[in-house]
Amino acid sequence: MTNEELWQTVLAQIQLNISSANFATWFKNTEIISKENYQVVVSAPNSFTKEWLEQKYGKAILKILHSLDGEIKEVKYIVGKVGLKVFKKTPSLSFSDAGQLEFQEFKVDKETNLNPRYTFENFVVGPFNELPHAAAWAVSKNPGFVYNPLFIYGGVGLGKTHLLQAIGNEVAKGSPQKKVKYIPSEKFTAGVVTAIRNREVESFKAKYRSIDVLILDDVQFLAGKEKTQEEFFHTFNYLYEKNKQIVLSSDRPPKAIPALAERLRSRFEGGMIADIGYPDYETRMAILKTKSRERKIELPEDVLNYIATNIQRNIRELEGALNRLSAYQKLQNQAPNLEIVKSLLKNLILSPAKIATPKKILQVVADFYDLEEKDLLSPSRKKEIVRPRQIVMYLLREDLKRSYPFIGRKLGGKDHTTAIHSYEKIIKELEKDENLNEEISLIRQQLFSG
Ligand code: ADP
Ligand code: MG
Repeated sequence: MTNEELWQTVLAQIQLNISSANFATWFKNTEIISKENYQVVVSAPNSFTKEWLEQKYGKAILKILHSLDGEIKEVKYIVGKVGLKVFKKTPSLSFSDAGQLEFQEFKVDKETNLNPRYTFENFVVGPFNELPHAAAWAVSKNPGFVYNPLFIYGGVGLGKTHLLQAIGNEVAKGSPQKKVKYIPSEKFTAGVVTAIRNREVESFKAKYRSIDVLILDDVQFLAGKEKTQEEFFHTFNYLYEKNKQIVLSSDRPPKAIPALAERLRSRFEGGMIADIGYPDYETRMAILKTKSRERKIELPEDVLNYIATNIQRNIRELEGALNRLSAYQKLQNQAPNLEIVKSLLKNLILSPAKIATPKKILQVVADFYDLEEKDLLSPSRKKEIVRPRQIVMYLLREDLKRSYPFIGRKLGGKDHTTAIHSYEKIIKELEKDENLNEEISLIRQQLFSG
């Protein structure tokens, strides 16, 4: 039996014993990549799936393998296909597999926080972002001397982070001796808090003052953080006077950021302010075409037109749509037709509330974490229950837009403040916890896939 046949046999048996949603979630893109003596190595597409396979299905998998081949005594799980010839490690822009999953290949630099996937080369320019793009490009070619600070603002998912990171990457490429640092405002705030607590304010200051290009993303999150604003004000002045470049982004213009110290606001307004609007139809089509090429998928014109017509206000969602279609194409080995596309994308295009219900969220989350629905409704403070319960509340709020009192009631008569706290907690965690991101996206796949 080849490794592939062996794995297919295992899968066939497992499929009989678990729900099809779970099967698709945990066993898609898994395979045996080697079998030597008594050990079989199984690869999983990501670390979360790997752990889940090990912990939840490890015993069953070993048992089945052992029954098929008495020699097999151990199963090892790895992420990806290391060890195979695929070990080519090209840092290129090939989104060869199911889109998003490949993003993990891009390594974020620990020092600069730059992600090489965001470049000017793969940034599509149209009338809606022409000005910020031109300003960003100019800044990257002559940091500190053209527009300082450069302040870019615009709605969610419209390319602010991409543009900011592209500046950083371009500077790092063109002038490797320059110290670049990209930092989300919330991370900066957390740094200030830690520095104060550990009495390390001086070394914190010093760290930021040695930077040549400081990029602070989403400064609207500085609202109300007085201590952080003060710290940033001094850093800003220090760098500015030394002709170091400062780049900022926000979801709104400086004057619309509440609780921002006046002196900081006027600094933010002192350079170039450029806003990113909404992409027009032609640019949406151009973005879709560029990104399908990157993902090596070919979609018919009517499909592209359907996506561009229905997703208008968010480039991240355009990408999300493509990722979904690209995953379909990989699994089915053919491009989806318009009817299939409509059903694959219905939760991006229709409002989620039309597809999922609170009941379904409870079911799916309970199932996903191997709990009973009643555990989620109970007052238990056990860690393995608290987190899934918070996720239910998060999804009820985020995807179904339910009110906090409703959410509290739905979860066994809890107070609305518990619902608020849970929602905010998950939002915070999502920013730093990659596993949680993955879990929630897997849960959403189950929720919205039918
Ligand atoms: P924001 O920071 O404004 O919320 P992002 O920069 O994270 O948005 O952009 C969301 C996604 O859309 C990213 O994957 C980004 O690469 C992509 N994107 C945004 N604008 C463009 C563009 N003009 N060309 C290509 N991709 C884009
Ligand atoms: Mg952003």
